[in-house]
Amino acid sequence: MTLFELVKQNICVPDAAEHYGLQVSRNGMCSCPFHEDRHPSMKLNERYFYCFGCGATGDVIDLVAKLFDLSSYEAAQKLAQDFGIGPDKPPAAAALPKPERPLLKAYRQEQVRCLRVLCDYLHLLERWKVQHTPKTPEDVLDDRFVEACQMLDYVEYLADLLIAAELEQRVKIVEMLNKDGLIAGLEERLDRLKKEDDAHEKQSAA
Ligand SMILES: [Zn+2]
Repeated sequence: MTLFELVKQNICVPDAAEHYGLQVSRNGMCSCPFHEDRHPSMKLNERYFYCFGCGATGDVIDLVAKLFDLSSYEAAQKLAQDFGIGPDKPPAAAALPKPERPLLKAYRQEQVRCLRVLCDYLHLLERWKVQHTPKTPEDVLDDRFVEACQMLDYVEYLADLLIAAELEQRVKIVEMLNKDGLIAGLEERLDRLKKEDDAHEKQSAA
């Protein structure tokens, strides 16, 4: 077993986060140490972290590498030492990071893109749900409010899976989102809505 595997198998993200001074709430949220974050927007699960504010993401080794500005290998060593699980002998060359396979790399980029679009959409839906809530029972339901009610849970569920599910499942979700240009269509629509929004703001400011 390599040092990386040893560390990842023995130390979960929330434990490491708390060990290095981050306050993790019961539902696995903490204030992001990588951007100015007043309201906790970083989600931690056993194996990954993801910040909904700045997009910082990775596993336990990435977290420590970022926190202390270390290389992955140095971060793994620090974790092993601080948690008392390190192998006594220096790890073999096998422990050094292997070059990424190009396919995996392409997939990762695709996953990051899907996640970014889903999170943008999620934020929009959250805003719509608040801004377009019917004020009286007689109000005609706003399309945006209806869409938010219908889609919020599902989009959040997909985003959660993309962050935390096993690789095989994540690959399937990315495949599904790319089928029939689903994610590209959503990306375009969000872009268009944002432009309309900006134009509207300029108008009302003028
Ligand atoms: Zn952040």
